[in-house]
Amino acid sequence: MNALVKQPSILVVDDEPHLRSSLCAILDFHGYASMMADCGKSAISALQNSNFELILLDLCMPGVDGHQVMEWIAEKQLDICVIVVSGDTSIDSAIGALRRGASDFLRKPYESDEMVLKIENVLAKRRLERENRAINLQLKESERWYRYMVNSSPDFIYTLDADGFCTFCNDRVQSLLGYSKEEVIGKHFSSFIYAEDAEAAQYVIRERRAGERAISNLEIRIPHGSEEALLTLEFNSFGIYDETDGGATQRYLGTYGVAKDVTERKKAAELIMYQAYHDLLTGLANRKLFKDHLELAIAQARRYKHTLALMFLDLDRFKVVNDTLGHVVGDHLLIEVAARLKNCLREGDTLARQGGDEFTLLLPQIDSKESATRTADKIIKAFGVPFNIDGHELYVPMSIGIALYPENGDNIDTLIKNADIAMYDSKAKGRNRYQLYSASMNVSFDARFSLEVQMHKALERDEFQVVYQPQINIITGKISGMEVLVRWVSPLLGYLPPLEFIPLAEETGLIIPISEFVLRSAFGQAKLWKQTGLLPERIAVNISSRHLEQDDFVDFIRQLLDEYELIGSMFEMEITESMLLNDGDHIIEKLRMISDMGIKIALDDFGTGYSSLSYLKKFPINTIKIDQSFMPGFAGDANNESIITAICTMAQGMNLNLIAEGVEDVDQYRLLHALQCNEAQGFLFSKPLSSHDITELLVKDAPLGPQYLRPQHCFNL
Ligand code: C2E
Ligand code: CA
Ligand code: CA
Repeated sequence: MNALVKQPSILVVDDEPHLRSSLCAILDFHGYASMMADCGKSAISALQNSNFELILLDLCMPGVDGHQVMEWIAEKQLDICVIVVSGDTSIDSAIGALRRGASDFLRKPYESDEMVLKIENVLAKRRLERENRAINLQLKESERWYRYMVNSSPDFIYTLDADGFCTFCNDRVQSLLGYSKEEVIGKHFSSFIYAEDAEAAQYVIRERRAGERAISNLEIRIPHGSEEALLTLEFNSFGIYDETDGGATQRYLGTYGVAKDVTERKKAAELIMYQAYHDLLTGLANRKLFKDHLELAIAQARRYKHTLALMFLDLDRFKVVNDTLGHVVGDHLLIEVAARLKNCLREGDTLARQGGDEFTLLLPQIDSKESATRTADKIIKAFGVPFNIDGHELYVPMSIGIALYPENGDNIDTLIKNADIAMYDSKAKGRNRYQLYSASMNVSFDARFSLEVQMHKALERDEFQVVYQPQINIITGKISGMEVLVRWVSPLLGYLPPLEFIPLAEETGLIIPISEFVLRSAFGQAKLWKQTGLLPERIAVNISSRHLEQDDFVDFIRQLLDEYELIGSMFEMEITESMLLNDGDHIIEKLRMISDMGIKIALDDFGTGYSSLSYLKKFPINTIKIDQSFMPGFAGDANNESIITAICTMAQGMNLNLIAEGVEDVDQYRLLHALQCNEAQGFLFSKPLSSHDITELLVKDAPLGPQYLRPQHCFNL
């Protein structure tokens, strides 16, 4: 017998000394380690002190007998096998002991082989039981674990059988879908799907049968089980196949799937989409969506050779309402106008708000001119009834212009333009009417589509933008400041540089709202840059004389600084020499106040005016910008060169910052460097850039312009 294998320890309990020792001898011979106890009491104390695997227990003993020892074992829940040893007289009690959990019974007298065999059997059985117990425990543990994972998953997890009936789902079904497990298991999956998605949902089963193993990210809507809510779930599912024959038959058993709740994500995305394509006040389509619809409608009309109508609608007296009753009433009126217009339309028509009090309407398919004019007529009539807004009875008639495809234009821009022209025509002819476009209207187009009218609209329609042109330090090439320049992107007139509209804006006074817009944009951008640590030393804004002359100009600037929580020293205002000449004293006072706020003043286009240098001393000027007309070819032009040299020397003498504008080539740059001009601005370094592009430059923080001119490469002049 191999003692190494058999080392379980056995406690032998018997009150007969002879029997006890002979038993131990036998056990020893068979490789079992044993210990003896001569009575129940010493047996219990032995059990308390050591671990035994088996106890050979005599039942009949004086004092504490075998039964009591067994009771004690049961009470302490010891994991030990008991073989009771008993003579004939106590056979009944031995049977009782077996019932109470003894593993086996040995009848005195016994053969030693019989005893050893019983011991071996009992121990083997016990080992097996222990192993099973461990496996069971493991299984239970892992099952518990999986169940936990499946049930605490934030996703809905399920299995369907091959016909689409639910065979399992996790606890999430309750909190997510509002159904109990019982309500779901056994039901066909389609009974939970939102009707409109029923067909798409078929793919949960169908594709799999066609051999596809999985569907991924399929969005399906499910009405909530108990609440009035429609959930959007993103499904990922996998086929379950019979693998028992090694996967040879690939018999389809059903699906296993996971569905994620994407309702909120979907809502957020929809909201963003909605906001991008709708006018938030009226809920109507915005210009962008309208153009999309129009583009589609034109393509369809071209393909199927039908006619479409585009209408431009404008309220005749909206401005009066807005100006006299205020924006709140104005807004309420617009909402009501939108509702009334919608009432005049058919399904499939697109109504959009272009901005302000202008609306556009697309009738994507009409059989004749008359059906367009009928609709226009209906609208005019509807607007003959006054609105009741916040207690005010308001009569706001409509002027409508109509352009037809293909008659009056075969593309978006022409159609919109011509409908707009027709609308102006109907206004000119007395308002509260509609007018079909005709080519003859173009004769008077110029007047109605004058820059002025367009500029008014541009303000309402947010068509102005600002760009930023870097100003660089001549020595380092790095950005030291930037000039804010306005742009007008007109859908009708195209991309307009400021010189094409600023003079007229100055003349008409529109420069003031434009200038306010530019200042607000610049301050807003400065705040962003400040928050991100990208703020350049200086942001320069062009100030028109008309704006500066406003009584509240200084207050406006102060208010902007407060509003955007910025300090004056971040900004520079570019004014021109001519502004100093007009109404000199009054301007000086304002410039002083601005200067007192820390804002720097630059004299723009310097050199083109007549100001003498001594004259400049009267004004709080920090910077001089050498006009770009001195730049082209100046490096080779003796006259220009001497003017620039004079300006540079003068500026240095007066301790002024000097910026050369319109620097386009390396020779100019080289000369400016030699003349110790501090800063330069021009295409050689960068064109004016969008806020996005200039921010990228600020992030890079690299020198601009030709690197080989930098000091380390030496300026040999
Ligand atoms: P400015 O103040 O002298 O602005 C510089 C003009 O020179 C800008 O033209 C700029 O794009 C252009 N420029 C810059 N570098 C170069 C170069 O290397 N070569 C050439 N050929 N041109 C260069 P922009 O933006 O067309 O502005 C023209 C004028 O319009 C400005 O002249 C300014 O007087 C006026 N302006 C622009 N934005 C505003 C504004 O927001 N408010 C006011 N009141 N006037 C503005
Ligand atoms: Ca300027
Ligand atoms: Ca200039």
